[in-house]
Order: sequence, then structure tokens, then C-alpha cells
Amino acid sequence: MRILFVNPNEIKHIEYSDYAMGGYIRPYFSPALGMLISITPEHHNVEYIDEIIGEQIDFNRRYDLVAITTTWTIQAQRAYQIADGFAKHGVPCIIGGNHASLCVEEASRYASVASGMAENMWEQILADSERRSLRPVYFAEEFPDVTRCAWFDYRKIKKAIDDTHAHIDMVNGLSRNMRPFPILTSRGCPHTCKMCVTPEIYHKKYFAVDPVHLEEQLTTAEKLFKPFMYMFIDEYFGHDPEHTSACLQKFKNAGVKYGVQVTPNLLCEGNLARELADTGCVVASIGLESLNSEVLDDDFGKAEPSIQPGMELNDQNIEASYTAAIRKCQEAKLPFMLFWLINPVRNSIEDMEKIVEFSKRSGAVLSSLNFAVPLPGTKFFQEQKRKNNILSYDWSRYNTFNILLKPANGISAEEFQKAMHDNFIKLYPISGIPAHLMGDASFSIEVMPYIVTSVAVRLEYLKKMVEKTFPFSLPFPFMPK
Ligand code: SF4
Repeated sequence: MRILFVNPNEIKHIEYSDYAMGGYIRPYFSPALGMLISITPEHHNVEYIDEIIGEQIDFNRRYDLVAITTTWTIQAQRAYQIADGFAKHGVPCIIGGNHASLCVEEASRYASVASGMAENMWEQILADSERRSLRPVYFAEEFPDVTRCAWFDYRKIKKAIDDTHAHIDMVNGLSRNMRPFPILTSRGCPHTCKMCVTPEIYHKKYFAVDPVHLEEQLTTAEKLFKPFMYMFIDEYFGHDPEHTSACLQKFKNAGVKYGVQVTPNLLCEGNLARELADTGCVVASIGLESLNSEVLDDDFGKAEPSIQPGMELNDQNIEASYTAAIRKCQEAKLPFMLFWLINPVRNSIEDMEKIVEFSKRSGAVLSSLNFAVPLPGTKFFQEQKRKNNILSYDWSRYNTFNILLKPANGISAEEFQKAMHDNFIKLYPISGIPAHLMGDASFSIEVMPYIVTSVAVRLEYLKKMVEKTFPFSLPFPFMPK
């Protein structure tokens, strides 16, 4: 069969530019589709199109099957458009990914749906597709339990990218090579945070990559892609310290650079920060989420991965844990970024200001304020829906820069959104650029996101003000997709 894998773009009518807010950091390929390509038998002809980086689909090209991911809810509407587009040409489509997995009824109106981990269903889906008899829905639960999960086969992924007949313009083509390259040491997560889709898909399962296997993957990636930087896409990096050390050693041996996302609880313990710094990590992204312990626990259900083990949960201990995690990074001279979530239902504008102050004191390379997104299928979504707090069910608005939940205390959504934007700008003072260039990090790759964001946020703000005065849209900020 000739199979096309598509990573759909979002439909652009968001109020705030994704690029200005840091959305320019896209992976080299979709990790979810990379997995599927890796487990697709070699005798099929496989192509991969990434709309997010500007590749365009040719709906007239003949395919036997089109597999579309909805890793993020914001991709869902475009995924459905693509399925409709191919349906007009009689091409069967299957939609998977987090959103479709958790919104099966909705997605199945447009195409067949693969819900849950694909490993044990994919063979059946391919067989059914060859017989041109795809089922409306495939549920992972109806197949044998996944006990060995898939890893990237970079050779197959490279072939799928090279064999693609998609048009891509020169700027986006060149910028593709600057994108962080996905790699992982594990999949799944033992935690059950309410705002996260991982527990709903993995059901607390956790799989570790054999470090020997990781070494082989690194060798292949270096030979075929020579990535300028790797990005760990583990759901919960660092869960098993011994295994993590063995994996990091492989990165050190390969002499490559990488970035990683990590939770505060793991940084507080042991030597993780130092190990990261010693093995090629150029930046650690720390998901701090909230300084308010009630929001962290009741709303996000993320207390456990956020606080030092054994500590009682309260605001003081949360701040102490964050400070301890940051200190570990500073002692190891490991550059770090901080990521925060604002829940308008419970967080006040003062909470945002507190976060800005904390971030400025922290010495982070970059710090990012994000609205909590009630991702459909999560417990957070169900709770907010039940309480009638959700402002919009338009999935094309579901990114972290649009306000999706009703603010409390009589503040309008517009006021709250503006306060968020103003505080975002405070996080990136232009005057901070020289300090970043001359600080500990010096001029290096980890400083670039700060500079780009600092400039882009201002352009975005200026653009908004001009658009309010003159009702036409401006073409800047210009950046490759
Ligand atoms: S620790 Fe991270 S990956 Fe695991 S459930 Fe919580 S948010 Fe999701």
C-alpha cells in the first residue's frame, strides 16, 4: 500500500500569534507519527507530510490509506478537513492521537478512529485497510495489552520524509534542519495529573528504552540526520534514576547536545541536574505550573510531581521545592526554562505578577506564562465543563495563549487575557537581552529562544495595537513556520 502520514496544522484564527509566544520551537517530525512509521512493515510505501512546518498536501495524489494525528486538540479541526478532502477522492483515512483517542464519537464522524496506544492495533488496521474494510473505530483495550512499546526507527522515518512529494518553500525547508530532533528514553508516566492526557492514554503504564537500543538509535540519527540538537520527548523523563543515568551516559559518549523537560520533584533529589549538565544538556525545561498549592492540587492534580518527596503540600513548601530545583540547576551550571500554567477560574492577576517576580529572580533563560487548557478527555476538562467554566468549545482556539476558562472575581475574559499578555512582556524585557548575552549562559543556543521571544512578543503587541486602530491585518511578525 501507499500510506500517507499527516501532521495537521492548526486552523489559524487564534487571537495571539503562536510564534510570538514561542511556538516556533517545533520538533523535526511528529513523535506520534514517527512511532507509527517505525512499526509499519517495510513493504509499504510510506510518505510523511508535516503541515506545521509548511508542507502542503496534494489531495489528487493516490494513496491507499491516510493516517492523521491529533496529538493536540488544536489540530483536530484541520485533521477533519483533511479527512474530508481525501474522502472526496475515495481515499480511506484513519485518525488517531490524543484528541481523537479521547473524543472518539466526534472524530468518527470524519474517518475511522484509532483510540489509545497504536502498537497492537496497527497491524490489524493495515490488514483491514488492504482489504478496504476499515472498521469505524479501533479501541486499544480490545487488543492484547501493550507490554513492549514502539521506539523510533530513524531509518524508516528518514525514508518517509525523503519519499514525500509535498511542496515546501525554501525558508521552511532550510529551517527544518534547525528544529529539535525527537528522541526518548521512556514512554508513559506513573502519575495521574488531572490536566494531562497521558494518564488517559497510558493508564499509568511506563516503558523504559534499553540504553543499548538508545545507543543504536543515536548512531542512526547521527548518520542519517546529524541533528543540530536533540529533544527528549519522554512524558515523564527521569522516573528511574539508574536507567536515566545509563541513558544519559550514551548521550555523553555520542558527544551530542540535547534539551529535556523535567519536573521539580526529580530535580530536587539526587544529582540529576549535574548529570544533565555533564552529558550535553543545553537546557532543562521545568514545568512549575503554579505557586498556588490549591490550584496545583485541586485543579491540575499535579502536586506529586511538583513537590519534594515527603513534604506537606502548602504554598511555602511548593515555593521551597521550586527554589531547591532551581538551585540544583544553578549549582550544576545547567541553563533552565520555567513553564507556568494560569487557571483563570482560580488564579488572580496578582498571582501572575507573583510568578513574574519569582521568574525574574530565578535566573531562568526563559520563562513562559500559559493559560491552562481544558483538554477534552481529561478530568480537568470534565470538572470545568460540569462547573460551566469553559468559555469555548472551538478546538481551533485550544492553545495555551487563548483564554478558555471564565475568570473569577468579575474580571472579563478580555481584561484577563490582556493582563496575561502584559505580564508575558514583563518576563521578556528588551533590557534583559544584554544580561542574557553576557550572563552565565553566554551567547549560545539556549539564549536564542529568549531573544526571539523578547522581540516577537513586542512585535505581536504592536501588531495588536495597530489592528485595533486600523481594521486590517499586518503581515508581521514574519517567521518561518
Ligand atoms: S507528571 Fe507530567 S506526564 Fe505525568 S501525568 Fe503529570 S503532567 Fe502528565
